Amino acid sequence: MMTSTNIDQEILSAVQSATRGPGALHEPMLGDAERRHANACIESGWISYAGSYVKQFEDTLAEITGAQHVIAVTSGTAALHVCLMMADIKHGDEVLVPAFTFVASANAIAHAGAQPHFVDIDDETLCVGPARLSTYLSEICERKGGETINRETGRKITALIVVHTFGQAADMAALMKVCEDFDITLIEDAAESLGTSIPGQHTGTFSQTAALSFNGNKIITTGGGGAVMTDDPEIAAHIRHLTTTAKQPHKWEFIHDAVGYNYRMPAINAAIGVAQLEQFDDFLARKRALAVAYENVFDSVSGVAFIHEREGTTANYWLNAISLETADASVRDVILSTLNDAGYGCRPSWRPLHLLSPFADSPRDRLPVTEDLYLRIINLPSGIKVCP
Ligand SMILES: *Cc1c(COP(=O)(O)O)cnc(C)c1O
Repeated sequence: MMTSTNIDQEILSAVQSATRGPGALHEPMLGDAERRHANACIESGWISYAGSYVKQFEDTLAEITGAQHVIAVTSGTAALHVCLMMADIKHGDEVLVPAFTFVASANAIAHAGAQPHFVDIDDETLCVGPARLSTYLSEICERKGGETINRETGRKITALIVVHTFGQAADMAALMKVCEDFDITLIEDAAESLGTSIPGQHTGTFSQTAALSFNGNKIITTGGGGAVMTDDPEIAAHIRHLTTTAKQPHKWEFIHDAVGYNYRMPAINAAIGVAQLEQFDDFLARKRALAVAYENVFDSVSGVAFIHEREGTTANYWLNAISLETADASVRDVILSTLNDAGYGCRPSWRPLHLLSPFADSPRDRLPVTEDLYLRIINLPSGIKVCP
């Protein structure tokens, strides 16, 4: 079917009727609760990582996600870096990661001294596709002493980062099986998926470690921040130590027993996070109402499909997305320009990472779904302020 010529106007009308009005892609919702907790934090004098706010924030996240341990850090990128360090990545190892993700997922791999190796997503979940991944690894790898070696580069493939794209859950059961088959450590990039579950289990609790982000555009924000989740008490203790400059507890001496990191989240940020989490159930409900409204209006726009949560999963609908029937950047860009001119902060999906100069030479699978969806996906305004 041909996409109609005034599709940009049709999409604009649909977005106008589903939302409260113009707005950014994902503007944070800040108010009295944030002011109250930030003030209390300042009054206490403990604005760095000591004091009660960081622990309170971590405990609440553990309650929401069911993770045994949550360690708040300075960003989602730092959280991913920590996850990779816990996976015992050696210099030059390869880490599998979708090309269809925010650049931070691959940056963290480079920060850990490893090489991103790009894999494709599947068009139903928008996340790494387990079937293709398994076939691909069988084709390119050889198994040696319990390790998976890329035959072409001679490097070990140590880990897989799965991203729960736009807050849609990946097919974790199948991905866990692939990782088990190839002795690859699984890491979840749950930066976008706080509140997303595969019923009964929150995303980010299927893997050894997982990363959350609280950047200004995420479902809850601390200004900037992130967290690592794990169920392993030893890994949790190691992370707390390493992210706090690897300082041994001592009354007055500065004894550091490793090259540590200054990655701990400051309390002033955690205070804002505590305020945001008080409203989290409300945020989730309102975002779901917006997703339902989008789904309803786009039902009658031909040539456009709303990205709905996969059956058997609950999405947080961090970013609502539509997929155009026509894979044509010029059609997409006309739509983006009409909507942005009218004040509706719409965006294409991220430019696939293998097309960015720092990662142009990274090893990769064929990426047909990634390259196709890059031309077809449009993210719609999704912040709380535009929710009905
Ligand atoms: C936001 C995001 C990150 C990084 O988070 P920062 O807090 O900005 O460092 C990582 N991965 C994905 C998929 C993200 O969306």
